[in-house]
Amino acid sequence: MDKKSRRMNNITLTGGVDMPMEGFGVFQIPDTQCEQVVLDAIQVGYRLFDTASSYKNEEALGKAVRKAIDAGMVKREDLFITTKAYIQQMGYEKTVQAFYESLHKLDLEYLDLYLIHMPLGDYYGAWRAMEDLYEAGKIRAIGVCNFDGARLMDLCYNARIKPMINQIERHPHFQRSEDLTVMKKLGVQPQAWAPFAEGLKGMFAEPVLMEIAEKYGKTVPQVILRWDIEQGIIIIPKSTHKNRMEENMAIWDFELDSEDMEKIAGLDKNVPSMLDCSKPSEIDRLYDYLNNPVLTSL
Ligand code: NAP
Repeated sequence: MDKKSRRMNNITLTGGVDMPMEGFGVFQIPDTQCEQVVLDAIQVGYRLFDTASSYKNEEALGKAVRKAIDAGMVKREDLFITTKAYIQQMGYEKTVQAFYESLHKLDLEYLDLYLIHMPLGDYYGAWRAMEDLYEAGKIRAIGVCNFDGARLMDLCYNARIKPMINQIERHPHFQRSEDLTVMKKLGVQPQAWAPFAEGLKGMFAEPVLMEIAEKYGKTVPQVILRWDIEQGIIIIPKSTHKNRMEENMAIWDFELDSEDMEKIAGLDKNVPSMLDCSKPSEIDRLYDYLNNPVLTSL
């Protein structure tokens, strides 16, 4: 990766597909707002978009993509569209069906990245379906989310094609060093969801991050995103505000030094702020998620 570049870097996944290092997440953006937000994000320069069947905004993302292409803002091949299959869509046949439903909602001919959303349910059956869809050329890259190191190893040891991405909760309060080491060993590219931990637990007011931000004339969100980039981790921050979209994109003109990285390493609490798949109560909440009309944080 060329750290000195002032333009956004791409990264090459196993399988040879290039994807942007920074993208845009649309979790918790209601269907009604999502189309305009995505159009704004495309205008700002985002090309990678991350949704999921459970976010219930795939149609809106698809409409925005269609509008942007029709208006000549982008070509389809400039965009990198990700969606995910949720727990109730696990299992070979169910995942094939879920894939075509998502593709239809997104109004796309192919998907750039398809992910297993949770390490729950018949995800082995789902993975076989994803392998077949990938080999049939319907998906350019396949991966998983929220797999800890042990589950990821098990899947890799039993899969025909290894996941190319593992999208995990990752931010300065939950740095996942051990899981990242496993991913590196397996050749699985990490992608950080909730890079700001949604601003929870005082993330934006961390004195260490504020001090580093001041040193470079940057903001705390920019320092956090740059911290991921320095470690080769793909980021997908979400914002419904155009000025913040621009702010989150303006991270390609500075670098953090080893002292900064060491200070940020000291912020690790080694506990998730948002999702803990090791807790039985969490499993019930996740299984019930689709029945919950209120979008709460996953
Ligand atoms: P996030 O990106 O960590 O944080 C989003 C929050 O930060 C929003 O409240 C946003 O507010 C605020 N924000 C963004 N930029 C800001 C800035 N420059 N200054 C101040 N506040 C700022 O959280 P996330 O949306 O949960 O995670 C990002 C994406 O990861 C999601 O959209 C989704 O695509 C993905 N994700 C995946 C999973 C999974 O299980 N695979 C789970 C959760 C999320 P405004 O919108 O009001 O600006």
